[in-house]
Order: sequence, then C-alpha cells, then structure tokens
Amino acid sequence: MQMLAEEKIDGYVADNQFRKRDPKFASADRHKKSIDRNHTPIKEKRYFTPSDFIYNESDGTLTCPAGNKLYVKNRNFVGTRGEKGIAYAGWKTKCRVCEIRKKCLRSPKSQFRQVVIFDESGKGPKGRFTKQMIEKFDSALGRFIYSRRMGTVEPVFATICRRIGLDRFTLRGRAKVDTQWKLFSMVHNIFKIWRYGASYAY
Ligand code: SF4
Repeated sequence: MQMLAEEKIDGYVADNQFRKRDPKFASADRHKKSIDRNHTPIKEKRYFTPSDFIYNESDGTLTCPAGNKLYVKNRNFVGTRGEKGIAYAGWKTKCRVCEIRKKCLRSPKSQFRQVVIFDESGKGPKGRFTKQMIEKFDSALGRFIYSRRMGTVEPVFATICRRIGLDRFTLRGRAKVDTQWKLFSMVHNIFKIWRYGASYAY
C-alpha cells in the first residue's frame, strides 16, 4: 500500500472486510445456498474473530459483539513476526457474566477476551496507507471500479485456470514462472483473436 502511494499508482487492493462494509452485500448470504451445487452446509464460526469487533474512532476502543467496550492494554503490541498493532482486553466484570462468552472465549477458565488489531489504528505509517486504501475502496468510485473486476480480470483468470489448464505453475523460479505465465497469456490472447478478432485481445 505504501509503495502504491509513493509511486502514485492508482491501485485498488481489497481488504478482507470490504464486503462487510458495503451495504450492497448486506443480504448476500441469502444467495449462498443457491450457488452451492454440492449443498454443503454453511459452517458457522465457532468463535468470534477480531473482525467481529468494531473499532471506535472517537476513543480508540474496540466494541465487542456483546456491545461492551474493550480497553487498550498495549498500544505498542509487536507480534511474533514483528507486525505492530494494538492489544485490547475486555473487562473481567463484563466477560465473567457475558451471555455469549462461549462464542468469545476458547477456554471456560478465561476471565476476559483479548484482541489484537494489527495496523488498523492508522497511527503507524503502514496503518495510515492501509487506512487510505480502505477509504478509497469504500468510496462510490472505488466500489464501481472494483465491481468491474468481475467482468474484466476474473474471467481471464478463470479461463486460463480452468479452460487452458494453468491451475498451478509447474516451474520454479521467477524467470521460469514469468515465462510460463506469458506463454499461457499468449495462448489466451490467441484464443480471443481466433474467436472474436484482434480487438478482443488484451
Ligand atoms: S466475553 Fe467479554 S469481550 Fe467477549 S463478547 Fe462477552 S463481554 Fe464481550
């Protein structure tokens, strides 16, 4: 994200919550069953994940699914891979009597819930660029541009993967993978030209 901003590249990188924030997807779950040809039952999440908690811009706290505010336990949390974030904790008095604690705490002995939000505060440089991307993504233009992906980029991947058969790279190393990708892209374009004429190749 930082590189895109610094190089002034107008890129759109989706985060894993963008559909949740888009009101158009509010009722998307009702379509899930009909496209599931194997009729696989939708698995319910066993425990709440950090994405189920809501960050409050005004006071920097986090609100849990039960509607209680967690407090900041460690503002400079560093993960095992060096990633930075903010660690939050629930109040023992609230977690102890919480009616949905079974969905929140993995161990019945735990007294409170802890959640770490990585780079979501917008305080660190990495967080700032991530936040900018989220804002850009959530704008009307961002949503429009990303929605076109379904009709432009995705079908190309699907054709190359399913029809032409590149479901994995069989070579290793950057140069070889690059060559293999270009070869398959070329085949894809030749198909397009053969079917529809030169104007359809891209
Ligand atoms: S266990 Fe604590 S943090 Fe989890 S939902 Fe209940 S009150 Fe909130």
